[in-house]
Amino acid sequence: RWGEFMDRAGTAWDRSRRPLLEEPLRDDRQALGRDPYPAVRRRRLLRPARQAGTVAEVGRLELTDPRLAALLDGYALSYGLDPRHAPAAAALLPYMEETFGSWYVAGGMRALADAVHERCLARRVTFVFGAEVVRVAEKDGRAAGVELADGTGVEADHVVLGAQPRPGLLPGQERWPGAVSGDLPGVRHHGAPGRFLVLLSLRGAREPGAVHRTVVHPADGASEQEAVFGGRTAERPTVTVLRPDDPATRPDEEHEAVTLMATVAPHGPVDWTDTALCQRFTDTMIGRAAEAVPGLRERILRSEVRTPVDTEADTGAEGGSVPAPALAGAGGAYLHAGNRTPLPGLYLAGGWSHPGGGPAHAGMSGALVAGLVVEGDGFRGSQ
Ligand SMILES: Cc1cc2nc3c(=O)[nH]c(=O)nc-3n(C[C@H](O)[C@H](O)[C@H](O)COP(=O)(O)OP(=O)(O)OC[C@H]3O[C@@H](n4cnc5c(N)ncnc54)[C@H](O)[C@@H]3O)c2cc1C
Repeated sequence: RWGEFMDRAGTAWDRSRRPLLEEPLRDDRQALGRDPYPAVRRRRLLRPARQAGTVAEVGRLELTDPRLAALLDGYALSYGLDPRHAPAAAALLPYMEETFGSWYVAGGMRALADAVHERCLARRVTFVFGAEVVRVAEKDGRAAGVELADGTGVEADHVVLGAQPRPGLLPGQERWPGAVSGDLPGVRHHGAPGRFLVLLSLRGAREPGAVHRTVVHPADGASEQEAVFGGRTAERPTVTVLRPDDPATRPDEEHEAVTLMATVAPHGPVDWTDTALCQRFTDTMIGRAAEAVPGLRERILRSEVRTPVDTEADTGAEGGSVPAPALAGAGGAYLHAGNRTPLPGLYLAGGWSHPGGGPAHAGMSGALVAGLVVEGDGFRGSQ
């Protein structure tokens, strides 16, 4: 059944790949409003035919086995999407992983940032760190540069915003259609979910053949979804256990570094500055992870926790929300702001713009904006 589901996901991929991922978002957002996933139509005697419209319905009507449904729900949740609302087109997410693979950066994600930084320096890019932009400057109806928190201004021919477009940052933004994203159905009142990480230093070697990534599902996924998307902490969260075999992450072969990750409600509805709450949640996550790694608790030397409060401080995203990848379907409700903006010279890149969050999608947004800047507004993606 999973194989047949992947075949249908492949059809959705063929139908939506270019406009959804490889081209700047078209002005006609409705072109992506129709769900490209060819849901199975089930005829029923004397009753209307049934067809899956959401991720949860694909699980219930097509995969039918609760374990397969949990697997699919887990994919949506790991990207911060509510399986009860996210369109069936989210099938693209496991499809992309099964087709193109899932990539681990040797040395951890930091190594990717370092590599990009080095490459940029070689291409004579100048970086200015610790410079908070308070507003994009406008002159004669064009973006003309940025204003910094210390009161200085920087002039520019083009401005590319790679952060959440918070109110006030962009002149005239409140009048733009669909300019602020992250406002998905089901999270409207609470903001998109964030991530809770537990970083563990373990004594003892990683056993040979240990699995890189294990997802520990709860028996009752519905309760977890109600909690995460209802602004509460789940009693039994889905926990992703990451055990990369990467010598760069450990001091020697007698130790192991393991990361636990859960999708959680953002800071705001849940007070992630509450240390007792964080301690309890950490303990729950370690307990869940121990179901996949027996003896985990006894091996812990040191642990560090990263909550949505840390994400907010690092990325500027309100509540430490993490942007989901853009999805077709649902009338365009899961699309992000386009890369071109109504203000000439101002472009949006990164997870809060088309085609959405995650390094792969955010990377595509960078490629699209580069195309728009170099080739002009008519740019329609690389061939
Ligand atoms: C804990 C965690 C785990 C994740 N795990 C995964 C995963 O497993 N797989 C996956 O695909 N995605 C994952 N993500 C999501 C992924 O990291 C993001 O989608 C991606 O990093 C977005 O890249 P970006 O360049 O758009 O934004 P960011 O990486 O957030 O960069 C934005 C930058 O802009 C700066 N900034 C913000 N506002 C301003 C301002 N006003 N002035 C100046 N600078 C500003 C910030 O300081 C930051 O450096 C995870 C995210 C988190 C937080």
